[in-house]
Amino acid sequence: MITSTIEIAGLEGRRVSLTPQQLDDLAARIDGPLLRPGDEGWNDAVLVWNGMAARIPALVAQPTSAGGVAAAVAFAAAHRLLLGVKGGGHNIGGTAIAEQGLVLDMSRMREVAVDPEARLAHVGPGCRLADVDRATQAHGLATVLGFVSEVGVAGLTLGGGFGYLARRFGWAVDNLDEVEIVTADGRIRTASHRQEAELFWAVRGGGGNFGVVTRFTFRLHPVGPSVYGGLIAWPFERAAEILHAYRALTATAPRELSVWMILLRAPAAPFVPADWHGRRICAMSICYSGALDRVGGVLAPIRALRDPVVDLLREQSYVEMQSYLDATEPKGSHYYWKTGYAAELSDELLAATRKMFAECPIPDGELAFLHIGGAINDHPGDDGAVGNRDARFVWGAKALWHPDDPRADAFRRWIRDAWTRLRPYSTGGEYVNFQQAEDGPARTVEAYGKNYERLQRVKAELDPQNLFRVNRNIHQAR
Ligand SMILES: Cc1cc2nc3c(=O)[nH]c(=O)nc-3n(C[C@H](O)[C@H](O)[C@H](O)COP(=O)(O)OP(=O)(O)OC[C@H]3O[C@@H](n4cnc5c(N)ncnc54)[C@H](O)[C@@H]3O)c2cc1C
Repeated sequence: MITSTIEIAGLEGRRVSLTPQQLDDLAARIDGPLLRPGDEGWNDAVLVWNGMAARIPALVAQPTSAGGVAAAVAFAAAHRLLLGVKGGGHNIGGTAIAEQGLVLDMSRMREVAVDPEARLAHVGPGCRLADVDRATQAHGLATVLGFVSEVGVAGLTLGGGFGYLARRFGWAVDNLDEVEIVTADGRIRTASHRQEAELFWAVRGGGGNFGVVTRFTFRLHPVGPSVYGGLIAWPFERAAEILHAYRALTATAPRELSVWMILLRAPAAPFVPADWHGRRICAMSICYSGALDRVGGVLAPIRALRDPVVDLLREQSYVEMQSYLDATEPKGSHYYWKTGYAAELSDELLAATRKMFAECPIPDGELAFLHIGGAINDHPGDDGAVGNRDARFVWGAKALWHPDDPRADAFRRWIRDAWTRLRPYSTGGEYVNFQQAEDGPARTVEAYGKNYERLQRVKAELDPQNLFRVNRNIHQAR
């Protein structure tokens, strides 16, 4: 029970005082705990993956039902409170947390119900990717999700979502069948192609701008349970050869094969020979989810590269594949990324990438290409707000460092330089889920391209007060 009045951030920079009576009223209606700083569970509730983007709210509500979420949204709207919504807390810009505001932490809504006959999974908004992969794989099924298992399903999906299966089945939102969502008026709605179709269009890539999703329903596909893949790497001295081989491979690879190319320094891990620790390498992270008796032929171009310094390719479960890179992404470090999309890997882009990485001063710095071309390109550009249907690769410069590292400014500068140098080879679009806190509204407009104006219209209709603004915000049309 809260016994004193609290000050909390409101919309338009106002401060709002909430009395103990009002807070009791909220606590009684959210169907779960209401936390203040210092309460048990507070630190976990406000923790986000990127320490550089950390913020502190004044209150955290942890609802356990759509009704509880609706009550919290109605309360925030009535008192004009700054409202954040936390899924997995992995957004690089830290957009889960409203600074000094109210946060809806969905971590108590983590259930997954699989209907194997209908090939559907009903997924709670607090789920991490691993929750869904584990539950669906129990039936030999999967949907498109990303490749680090602690990431939240909600934020990933609402921004579009891709992973090793995107080449086969499209963006995560191409596999979304329905959502249950609480809109700014406090109503619980169901949106799909069959009802509230315009809201459903907007939710398929438009982020948390239109409401709080309380259930995602995904279509599932037979996958695994065994796939073939893992990590293989060669010396950076062979970068020209490896990058060109990567381009040739991705031009013809079957959609069951996803190969992501990463230039990095070899970690001091037991699976890396000691004399390679800290040295520059060209690595491929590979997932082949097709018939395993064909894997030899499919991977032949990779095997033909010979003499890797690390070769961890093997048959493994899809669930294992989806989490084998988890340890490379510890929570709370300082992360900084700049990314774009490319339609092709031109000679100039590959040469610029190689040169940039040879000069990279960051011990944990990377340049990467993630091959996503395939099913996402089969749909028209306005099939869902996500757009970017001309993208075949995601490229990115990314790094992490210790919060106290005095070289942080130089590191950030290098990432920005890399982005500036690689951007001329980009489609001009961007992945909204990879944008930083510092990236301004113009970058959000770029991320959505031709779909932005339609998003503005849906936003103006469903959230005229811009209650849902702690996100990559869609500014309303005047
Ligand atoms: C290590 C790492 C690996 C990644 N790998 C991939 C990848 O393979 N593929 C890919 O596509 N992306 C990937 N991403 C990017 C990822 O999609 C975004 O970081 C995404 O925002 C994470 O979602 P979250 O729920 O964890 O984030 P949060 O920070 O909790 O939320 C992100 C945004 O979504 C909003 N939101 C959250 N839940 C809801 C809800 N229920 N209703 C409405 N709005 C909500 C929040 O308000 C916030 O604005 C990766 C990120 C990291 C850090």
